[in-house]
Amino acid sequence: MKLPTTPEGWAIHLSKLVKIFHEAHGLDRFPIKVASIATEYSRNVFPNAPITKVEGLNLSAKFEGMLLPRPNGNGEWGIIFNSSITSKGRINFTLGHELGHYLLHRHLSPEGFRCSSRDMLDWKSEHGQIEAQANTFASFLLMPLDDFRAQIRNQEITMALMRHLSDRYEVSITAAILKWLDITDKRAMIVVSKDGFIDWAWGSKRLFKSGIYYRARQETVPLPELSLAARRDPSIDAEIGFVHPKSVWVGNERVHEMTVFAAKSDMTITLLLYPNDGATYLRRMPDIDEEDTPDTYDQIHRHG
Ligand SMILES: [Zn+2]
Repeated sequence: MKLPTTPEGWAIHLSKLVKIFHEAHGLDRFPIKVASIATEYSRNVFPNAPITKVEGLNLSAKFEGMLLPRPNGNGEWGIIFNSSITSKGRINFTLGHELGHYLLHRHLSPEGFRCSSRDMLDWKSEHGQIEAQANTFASFLLMPLDDFRAQIRNQEITMALMRHLSDRYEVSITAAILKWLDITDKRAMIVVSKDGFIDWAWGSKRLFKSGIYYRARQETVPLPELSLAARRDPSIDAEIGFVHPKSVWVGNERVHEMTVFAAKSDMTITLLLYPNDGATYLRRMPDIDEEDTPDTYDQIHRHG
């Protein structure tokens, strides 16, 4: 049998095997158990280069995970994740990412791969081709399109839906949002911020094409003062969010902001929904009326 060569091809190939196996045994398909797929599959298909170890090690904070050959040179490989990371979703995604390196890149780098948390976010970068490919593989393996589309069909896009996807697939909310942004035809953006500054942001194709984006990696961009992410007002349910008037967020448009505050750090994850076609969007937000919005602060409290 001819083996796949692309990240998507590999993910779909494994995904099919998992689906068949789980259906045959009446098991839940999700979340995908990457560690057992990695060891089982590699042992059967690449008996001379099997993955014999998947384990957590106390790595430096810089590293999220690694794919390493066994030092004795017997051809075996190991996947290591940073055991100081407590998020199951992040670990699962990292395992997927390292399995991606194994399937796609192990011949390119016999000394293995040492991957940072930044590498896990490089989804489209031309410079980080290899990292982007490993992420694409992990995304398609953990969140197969057939199931992902079925989960979001006819659903309103909310942070609760993103939490559901993150639970179902055992990935971070960020990974679930990135996946959705990758396939949606809506205008939307994720903004991840730290200590009041935008760390990075990523928009859907349609939003990017309409000229709306942040250059947060090139420039220091503070969070908009009136954003829920910056205000951290405990009287507002930031996850349900709020429709801001024009010019709070980038682009001169109304924006529905939904923000999650990470429990332990100063990190915030924000999902911004821009109007797709003004009319339908406004109909769904009947209590926002541009004429009588004196300023954002009042509006937040009126709707908070
Ligand atoms: Zn990597």
